[in-house]
Amino acid sequence: MPVSHKTIVRVAVPSPLRRLFDYNVKESCAFAPNSLVAGMRVSVPFGRRQIIGIIVEITNHSDIVPEKLKDVTEFVDDQPILSGRLLKLFKWASSYYQFPIGETLFHSLPILLRNGEPLPELRERYWTLSQKGLDAGEELLVSTPRQSSLFKLLKSKINIKESFILEQFSRSILSKLEERGYAQLEYKENERVADDILVGNPREPNQEQQIVLDAITLNDFNCWLIDGVTGSGKTEIYLKCIEKILLAGKQALVLIPEINLTPQTERRFNSRFNVPIVVLHSGITKKQRLQGWAKSLSGEVKIILGTRSAVFTPMKKPGLIVVDEEHDSSYKQQDGFRYSARDLSVMRAQYEDIPILLGSATPSLESLRNCDEQRYRHLMLTKRAGSAAVPKWQTIDMRQEKIESGFAETTLSSIADTLHRSEQVLVFLNRRGFAPVMLCKQCGWAAECKYCDSKMTLHRSCNQLICHHCGARSNPPAGCPACGSGQLIACGEGTERSELMLQDRFRNTQILRVDRDTTKKRGHMLEVIQTAQKGHPCILLGTQMLAKGHHFQHVTLVVIVDADASLLSPDFRSTERMGQLLTQVAGRSGRGTLPGNVLVQSYQPHHPVLQILLGKGYGPFARELLAHRRKVDLPPYQYLALVRAESKLASRAERFLLMAKATADSIRKSSKALYYTGPLPALLERRSGRYRYILRIECKNRKLLNSVLDKLARNLESDHSVRWCIDVDPQEF
Ligand code: ADP
Ligand code: ZN
Ligand code: ZN
Repeated sequence: MPVSHKTIVRVAVPSPLRRLFDYNVKESCAFAPNSLVAGMRVSVPFGRRQIIGIIVEITNHSDIVPEKLKDVTEFVDDQPILSGRLLKLFKWASSYYQFPIGETLFHSLPILLRNGEPLPELRERYWTLSQKGLDAGEELLVSTPRQSSLFKLLKSKINIKESFILEQFSRSILSKLEERGYAQLEYKENERVADDILVGNPREPNQEQQIVLDAITLNDFNCWLIDGVTGSGKTEIYLKCIEKILLAGKQALVLIPEINLTPQTERRFNSRFNVPIVVLHSGITKKQRLQGWAKSLSGEVKIILGTRSAVFTPMKKPGLIVVDEEHDSSYKQQDGFRYSARDLSVMRAQYEDIPILLGSATPSLESLRNCDEQRYRHLMLTKRAGSAAVPKWQTIDMRQEKIESGFAETTLSSIADTLHRSEQVLVFLNRRGFAPVMLCKQCGWAAECKYCDSKMTLHRSCNQLICHHCGARSNPPAGCPACGSGQLIACGEGTERSELMLQDRFRNTQILRVDRDTTKKRGHMLEVIQTAQKGHPCILLGTQMLAKGHHFQHVTLVVIVDADASLLSPDFRSTERMGQLLTQVAGRSGRGTLPGNVLVQSYQPHHPVLQILLGKGYGPFARELLAHRRKVDLPPYQYLALVRAESKLASRAERFLLMAKATADSIRKSSKALYYTGPLPALLERRSGRYRYILRIECKNRKLLNSVLDKLARNLESDHSVRWCIDVDPQEF
């Protein structure tokens, strides 16, 4: 290995190549070699382009011969934008999720930083007279009256904010005084610490909460699973712990699954703490993201509240991570860098040596297993805080009922009774649009997407057929394209249709619909919440958006229109998800003083899984599923990864995976430890005109699986015949 006495930096660049790139640091570089730090950005030549990269290592060795080593063109930062601990975390993530190191690092940065924008200056700029200025007499400036008045201003007071000066003087006047040596710039850290961080009056913890709070220690790494029924006061626990962290001068990172839908969460934090809070989610501008990121890096912001990608936010003084609704599948990114923000949070807490709280009313099987293995500590809240009672479940046997547009007669009369008592109803139907299928009554033709293996959903409001997988749209045909008959019927129920039906049946009742179509309108969710809070009898109707985190105090009846869909799905996780969703939806009711009822409509009311869930609750239900997973060797008792391939030709995707399987097999010769299934078509075989295939690789040994995947990925790196990726701990098939 050629050894150079020069400084060489190993740089991550946004490239699919799974390695770092070496560059030479010129001796004439503005940095003394010991002030170069990993985590700084550089501008470097790459191929024929000039690109931004991040220094990951500093060394004086390179495998590249010195003549071929290119120079760093420019140093973008004068301080690292990523700490050593974060760099370590991202290296771990890159190798765990088999995603190229450069792309992993760049994924974590706000777009403006990826593009080379400078880190915003967050320190406040102040001006004051220099020694020369203090010694000088005003008469020196008589010929320049503007400079003279600025001089007088600076003389009147030390340290004047630049923004205040610029309200009265142009920047050029200020620069002239500086050039002449009379004025000088001072920086002040803008790290406000509120004297009194509490604004809201926290409630006295109840007995269960106190036990949980006493168990949680906040000094170093530890992972707690707070397993508490909806409304049991988990959020109160987070707030109490955050309070202690803030008092110690540290920052807290709080992840929630979906922020646009839960404006209350942000308000709850704001009304409790008198500290700067930043909210990071997909709806903010590039500039806001950069600002929030930088303020967290500088320590100015004390609480970072955000969705999945907020896990990458740097913190100056990290103190605590909270992952609310830890079971939520939106924590797993489903394309590109397929990381799980929950799992990455736990790793991050470990690297930063800080505590982490995972909270849920319906913990994931993974987390429950981690508790069994003593990796996490299991803390329970079994009662609702305050006076609210736990809702009562009842199944409606659809086989015995007269049914109108998806609603059983018994259900409709319960809705009527509830409204009659001036209480509110929540109807849950996880299907948006008017009808999921458009059928020909004569020949059975059904409207299908041209690009996917799926039916088109009829949307009444825009009168279009829309594919929910790829977004393709078309006008509904006037007659059947197959037999010419005019008898096309909309089959099945979506939220639009239920809305019409319920409105027709309950004429004087307000129906508030919430799904991805209605929430496109800004502020719609907030409007719904505010209307519901007024307490008039109404029907809230919606998809899983309604299940996430809202408090509807006046709802006393919850209707689950279709509990069967997920009992029949081939995805092994679908039962777990159904249990979580049903429990979450049910938890929306009876939060006030009135008791809640939950009606579950099913054609299989005696399905054993449904029986356990409804009869015994989520805890025993989850235990049952865990026992089953253990028996059949599925996660979390088995580690699982997929190689995914997509191509316009099914045969090409399949061939690629056969080759991948052979390669993996040769890496670890006929190992009994690794178990392959496939290539198989994905559950949705064709999407957006591409055929999707998967190869499942299972293993009981995480390290072994990881090392095989790593070699496999390097082997496949140069294959561009299909779109492929590796999905570790997949959530979709
Ligand atoms: P979760 O996060 O588990 O759903 P929350 O923390 O939101 O529960 O609490 C549910 C409701 O109970 C909220 O309205 C909250 O203000 C109230 N609450 C929580 N803890 C207490 C307590 N110790 N005493 C009285 N009310 C409480
Ligand atoms: Zn037909
Ligand atoms: Zn489609």
